[in-house]
Amino acid sequence: MDDTPALKVAGLGHNYGGFRALDSVDFTVARGQFAVLLGSNGAGKTTLFSLLTGLYHSRDGRISVCGHDLKRRPSRALRRIGVVFQQRSLDADLTVWQNLRYSASLHGMSPRLARERAEEETARLGMDDRMNDKIRHLSGGQQRRVEIARALMHRPELLILDEPTFGLDVPGREAILGHVRALCGRGLSALWTTHLLDEVHADDALLVLKKGRLTKTGAAGELAGCAEPAAMRSQLAAFL
Ligand code: ATP
Repeated sequence: MDDTPALKVAGLGHNYGGFRALDSVDFTVARGQFAVLLGSNGAGKTTLFSLLTGLYHSRDGRISVCGHDLKRRPSRALRRIGVVFQQRSLDADLTVWQNLRYSASLHGMSPRLARERAEEETARLGMDDRMNDKIRHLSGGQQRRVEIARALMHRPELLILDEPTFGLDVPGREAILGHVRALCGRGLSALWTTHLLDEVHADDALLVLKKGRLTKTGAAGELAGCAEPAAMRSQLAAFL
């Protein structure tokens, strides 16, 4: 496997007027890694997400996706990223297939390739039998799975998700987490943003963001000093 990191962030900062929302953020996400960006409300997660997805531009620091600098080579960097936003962004009046086809066309895919990819990605997420259903007839968890399938249509190497379990019940959250972890087992890298401690597993690469600074990085269980879920969560809570 290529050992260039899927994501490398160095010295990243961001200001809103005179307010320093992110400062000196450095981290990498390795190929195939599932990394969790954990931070409480206002820590700077969405700001970081907006910089990584090119929604905001950073004056300080560098972001590199699979070796491509986001500032200097934005199209090369961005086409390697799949994005799942916190707010739902599918068209509720269109079917699963129509939403996926629309997204594929924006990436310049032929209808035939779009159909092949849509079938493959929805099958991977257990949604291939819902291809002709309108989005509004799907549960919140099923809609999230379609958003993940859509984010993977152009075969990105890095998936970035901003609080993707927002609004889901516990089984729905666990299913989405399980799907993304399984995708990482197949070589995709993922950066999963959350404020929920129970979404962190002991062997996840954890990035703790507090008041705009990364205060802890490493395997979650090692940082907490224990791998038992409840004890680990209570240790991690002290970092927030
Ligand atoms: P949440 O979990 O509540 O979504 P977050 O970790 O995503 O929080 P951000 O939304 O990135 O945090 O906000 C980081 C800080 O920057 C907060 O103090 C917030 O008030 C501030 N902030 C965010 N957006 C703006 C903006 N457009 N203008 C001014 N300040 C902002």
